[in-house]
This record gives sequence, C-alpha cells and structure tokens, in this order.
Amino acid sequence: MPLDSEADRLVRVVALKNALDHGGKAQLDAVMSKLLGSRPDLRFLIKGLIPDIKAQVAVVNVMPLAEQKALLEELAPGELEAKKHVELKSPLPPLEGAVVGKVVTRFPPEPNGYPHIGHAKAAIIDEEYARMYEGRLILRFDDTNPLKEKLEYYEAIAEGLEWLGVKPDLVKNTSDDIALLHDYGRKLVESGGAYVCTCSQDKMRGLRAKGLPCECRGDGTDIINRLGRLFAGSYVQNEAIIRFRGDMADQNTAMRDPALFRIIEGDHPKIGGKVRIWPTYDFAAPIEDSLDGVTHAMRTKEYELRNALYFAILDRLGLRKPAMIEFSRLEFEGMPVSKRKIRPLIDSETIKSWDDPRLPTLSAFKRRGFVPEAIRKFVLSLGLTLAETKPPFEALEAFNRKIIDPKCMRLYFVRDPVEIHVQGAKMLNVTLKNHPTDASFGNRKVNVSDTLFIASDDARNLKEGDELRLIELCNIKVTDVDKQDGKVRSVWAVPGGDEIRQSMPKVQWIAKDDIVEFQVMIPKALYVGGEYNPDSLEVASGGVESFAAALAPGTQVQFVRFGFCRIDRSKTAILTHR
Ligand code: ATP
Ligand code: MG
Repeated sequence: MPLDSEADRLVRVVALKNALDHGGKAQLDAVMSKLLGSRPDLRFLIKGLIPDIKAQVAVVNVMPLAEQKALLEELAPGELEAKKHVELKSPLPPLEGAVVGKVVTRFPPEPNGYPHIGHAKAAIIDEEYARMYEGRLILRFDDTNPLKEKLEYYEAIAEGLEWLGVKPDLVKNTSDDIALLHDYGRKLVESGGAYVCTCSQDKMRGLRAKGLPCECRGDGTDIINRLGRLFAGSYVQNEAIIRFRGDMADQNTAMRDPALFRIIEGDHPKIGGKVRIWPTYDFAAPIEDSLDGVTHAMRTKEYELRNALYFAILDRLGLRKPAMIEFSRLEFEGMPVSKRKIRPLIDSETIKSWDDPRLPTLSAFKRRGFVPEAIRKFVLSLGLTLAETKPPFEALEAFNRKIIDPKCMRLYFVRDPVEIHVQGAKMLNVTLKNHPTDASFGNRKVNVSDTLFIASDDARNLKEGDELRLIELCNIKVTDVDKQDGKVRSVWAVPGGDEIRQSMPKVQWIAKDDIVEFQVMIPKALYVGGEYNPDSLEVASGGVESFAAALAPGTQVQFVRFGFCRIDRSKTAILTHR
C-alpha cells in the first residue's frame, strides 16, 4: 500500500532528521517509531507501509550530508535551525571564533601505550566541539618515534575510542606526511629559521641552562651543507639535530632553540626503516594541525609554554594558525593518569596487563564495569577548567552507578562464609526475585534446608538472643555462636517471628546446597604517598548462589550489601564500585 502524500513527506523528514542526528545514516526502527508517534492512525497499516518506508530510508542514506541538510531545509524549513539550537546546549562553553559547519578539531595520541581516561577527556572534548558546530573530528596518530610506537597501540587506541563512542570523521597518521614534514623542515633551515646542531647533548643542556648559543647557530657554520649531509645520511643517531632558531636567553625556556628533528634508527610500525630523520612533537604538531585544516587545537595546560613555539614555527613558514585552547590534565588521587607512569609498572611486570582493574586505562574501566556513557558525562561535567584539581573518583562512580543501577540484577555474595544452622527449619523451595521492584529481571529458585551461609562480617558480632532477617527469606533468632580464636566458626539459630523490624540486621545468605566458591577483585589506590601500593588489589573470597556462578563474563550485577560487580571470568568478578 502506498503512503498518502502527507505521510510520505513526513517519512522523508523523519528519515532526514534521524540521519542527520546519526552521522548521515537513518535507522528504519527509529524512523518507524517517530512516524507512528506523529501519525498514530497509521499503526494498523504499518505492515503494508514498511516497503515504502524502507525505500525512503535507503534513498536518504545514500545522500551526502550536505544534500540531506538541503533537502530537510526544503521540506521542513526551520527544522535545521531548531536542531542547531538544541545542539549548542552543551555543557562546554562556546568556542571563540567558531562558525557552524567550519570547525575542525583533532585528537592526536601517540601510539606508545594504551588509551586512558585522560585521553578520553581530550577526545570527548574534541568530539563534542566538532559535533556542537557540525564540524569534523580528526584522529591523528602522532607517530614520530619509531622506538616507542607499536601497531598494538594504534589498535588499542582505535578500539578505546570506538568503545567510548567517539567517531572520528578522518583517521590519519603523522607519519603519512613524513615527506611533507621533511620539506617544511628543510625550508625552515634554508630560510634561516632553524639550523643543524652537532653539539653533544650535555653541551646543549649546559648552554641552554646558561642561556648561551653554540657555534652551530653562528655565521661561521655552513648550515646548508650540514642540512644536505643530514638528509644524505652522513650523521648517526645523536650526532646531529635540527634546532629552531629561537632566543637562547628567552625567559620561556621552550624558546631556547628546541629540537625540531632528530635521527632515530629503528623500524617504524607503519613505514618501516626507510626514514631516519624524525620530527619532534614540537615541530610536527603545528604543521600537521595547520595542514589538516584544524581550526581549534586543544591540549592540556602542561604545554602552555610551548604555545609560543607552536605559533612561531607557523609564522616563520607562513602557515595558517589554528586557535589554541587549553584544559587541565585529568588525574585522580592515587591513580596516575599517564602512560609515562603506567608503562614502568607494565614493563617491570608489577602489573601484568593494560586492562588491570587498578589502572585508569579504558580497557580497565571497561573490564571493571564502567560504561562509556558515564565516562562521557563525567568528562563533560568537568568542563574546560584549567585548575589542576583532582576530581574525586567517586564523581565518576556516581555517574556510572546511576546508569547501571536500573540494569543490574540483585544477587547474593557472602564473603568468608560462616555456616548458620536453623534448628527446626523446614525444607523450602523458595523463589527469589532478581530485582526487588523490576519484575522483568525474572526470578530464581533455590532449595533451602536448615543450613545456610552468611558473611563473616555479619556473623562477627552476633550473640545469643539476636534476631536477624535473612533477606527475602525469614527471620531467625540466634541461640548459640561457636567461636574459636575470636573467629566465628558457626552460628546456631531457630526460626524467628514474621515481623520485619527496622532495627533488625538484614543480611544476604546462601543455601548450603547452592553455594559456589567465588571471588571478587577489589581495586584500591595504586599509589599511596607517591609509592606503588602492594596491597592495591584486594581479593574477597567467598561464595555466590549457583545462579550467579553461571552468569556469562561481562554480566553486571549488584551483590546486595556488597557492591556493583562485573563478572570477569568463571567464578571471578571485579568490584566496579559500591
Ligand atoms: P602520557 O602522559 O599519558 O604519556 P601524553 O600527553 O604523552 O600523555 P598523548 O598520547 O600524547 O599522551 O596524548 C594525546 C592527547 O591526550 C594530548 O592532546 C594530551 O593533551 C591529551 N591527554 C593526555 N593525557 C591526558 C590527561 N591525563 N588528561 C587530559 N588530557 C590528556
Ligand atoms: Mg605525548
């Protein structure tokens, strides 16, 4: 059955809007539900309309973005404007000089390690601005040191961003442009803006500290000849570098003739061993940003002193200058957010893998049960501050808890189980709800006899006469506590009354025939007082219900009175947070 012409227009508009909201691709389901929202009368006809709607969606999905926008403007004037308005409502402040449709940002990680939450902050801010102004985000692997970079890390970074939901419009490598960077380097030397220095590193360092130049930068040196020899391969590693001709007496030490190129012998993961002369970050970043069309370059505040150099290089080469925006580095107390600090722990095998739950890497957050949406909300909640304060980790946890709480089953884990014998209790076949209020989580059936387990923490202070509520089961009254060396070995009790009083401890339990050995890893502060904390990974041993033991890795649950956990592997979970 064909659509009536009004419905036809509506489908087209809905499909265009949906496509523009999702990078140019509309989804059939979303389009249908929006359509039925506006035209409930079509509900009974929808089956017959599906082929038509499908066809419309397909037509929209092959249009370039610009065409989608133009058509939407034509079919529904004002819709685009309304959309723009909504999108500008971001927690981030407006970008100075930003023009809708013209903003280009970039995220430039060095593929020398796994991405961490600091990278997430940078990438999310870069992306947020690109989207806010309907611009473009470039992911540029800043790979100019073959000794440090590995394919494994390019992949890990791409995966991390994908998990976060950051979608670059273009992915490139600085090394793709190595010939161009060489050309600009040569040009800078030839025009007197840089020179080849053959001093030893010690000498360079000494003179830089004193604010004095070396002979290499003076008139007596044939700089052009040296440049030729450098690129011809006449120097070996550490014998010669290209330095910016800055001011050796500048207050800003970053301007005291910093290195722009150095010789590095080694196989580059992308281009092999054919290139020996590699630009430093200081040289590559401004050139790449300028040539890539970046309008707003963002980086952490620690680079502040290098801004003068960034702009001076572009000035001397007559290249377009992006605006530079700074934000503070993200760090947490006791958790260093930096590859420089994480790598030594991995290299020394103090920590076995990049996804160890104590680390702030994205793979660790994922493994631990943090969801990307929470990381994004957290990062955006920090905004663009320059203050070097460490946000509390609990703030990130709070965002995550709010998102996962409605999605988690409530199950029982008992740490260091203690047996409890309920004399005279009948065999029961109970059905427990997997969530106290949301029936869609279903139920589980458990056979309960007169012997159960509770956590030793709950048993510790019990004494004769105490009344307890075994959650969702029954009340019991303690008749005897069997202790040895101050530790409770077992508890004896009798069935209690039916009334659930506020003052009664309410504890989780596991039936004797249902318990399965289980452990939960509890990540703690990795550093205490600047030192590696050897007790940073606590292991809580105990038991769970057989139902919980059978859950697939990746499942997130809340262990009642213990915390949110993600099943990591057979019989092991990781504590996400309380
Ligand atoms: P690291 O100390 O981890 O080695 P880096 O700055 O050398 O960090 P890059 O891969 O060069 O790491 O960083 C890519 C981008 O991510 C840069 O723009 C940098 O400013 C940003 N970034 C890195 N760490 C953080 C952080 N902790 N907080 C915010 N942004 C960060
Ligand atoms: Mg770096």
